[in-house]
Amino acid sequence: MNCKGCYIESKQDYCLSCRKKLFNKQKVNAVLNFDAPKDATLQVFQEHSKRLSISGVQLKYSLKLHGNQLELCEKGGAYILKPIPVARQLYELNAAPENEHLTMQIAEQIFNINTVTNGLIYFKDGQPAYITKRFDVINDGRKFLQEDFAQLLSRSKQTHGDTFKYEGNYEEIGNLIKRYVAASMPALEKFFKLIVFNYVISNGDAHLKNFSLIRNENGEYQLTPAYDLMSKVLHSPDESDTALSLYDGDIDSKFYQHYGFYGKPDFIEFAKRLGIVEKRAEKILFEFIDKKNDAVFKLINQSFLPDDVKQKFVNNYSEKVRRLLIK
Ligand SMILES: [Zn+2]
Repeated sequence: MNCKGCYIESKQDYCLSCRKKLFNKQKVNAVLNFDAPKDATLQVFQEHSKRLSISGVQLKYSLKLHGNQLELCEKGGAYILKPIPVARQLYELNAAPENEHLTMQIAEQIFNINTVTNGLIYFKDGQPAYITKRFDVINDGRKFLQEDFAQLLSRSKQTHGDTFKYEGNYEEIGNLIKRYVAASMPALEKFFKLIVFNYVISNGDAHLKNFSLIRNENGEYQLTPAYDLMSKVLHSPDESDTALSLYDGDIDSKFYQHYGFYGKPDFIEFAKRLGIVEKRAEKILFEFIDKKNDAVFKLINQSFLPDDVKQKFVNNYSEKVRRLLIK
């Protein structure tokens, strides 16, 4: 069978390397000893989720590892569990946990993007869930200060209304990275790469709260590992390509005006505004063009998505790469 963390052939639910990264080497079963939340248990789950200081519309549960068992908890949870979301007007929701897991694995394994540790796991009743290890909690329970870019830009429901997470552009995030992160150029290149990744993977929901800085023990700010990455287009086909504009006025570019979507010249201009030299930006963009398609398709194929969803994933990905190839 394939490892529920990284997809390699494994005799166990999670291979040794994933067990080390995810579960402190413990032989954790890929089936939890409790059911997915529904009716009677929903209240209990929601009470747990209320305590979790990570925002988002999806219900998220806090888990801790006790021996080799994962248990629900209110405090000190080292894991976040995301079951199938409950939402109307969205498609293929049963595939959402694996979509997120696969997208995170493509980011990490193929594009070397620093991501939160993650895997797929199942409730007792067979429903899948996405599990991720919290990066802001260290073993002794201490928490690092994490601030997302809605907080850093002082945008909230009170100041900018219900759509506050979408009020801004990626250049503004870049400007704050320049201001707060000491080694800002490597961080800006990582950020740029992540924006391009979100574009090719069709994640049109990478809003202000999906990027964060974390303050380490020395009081220095760094970009957090990437989180909440998924090919959102599978669930909402009419969504725009990106949650935020690249920069103010980007849709007036010659390329956008001609094609109606972003292409290579737009990303090069965006990189320039971040202060990334063109050669470096070209190199990063080149990683997404053509060279790695086979590796991406292989991982999609190994994933636990249903075959028809795999095909859609491949089609969406191919279309975005095609756009980047337009001269
Ligand atoms: Zn593995």
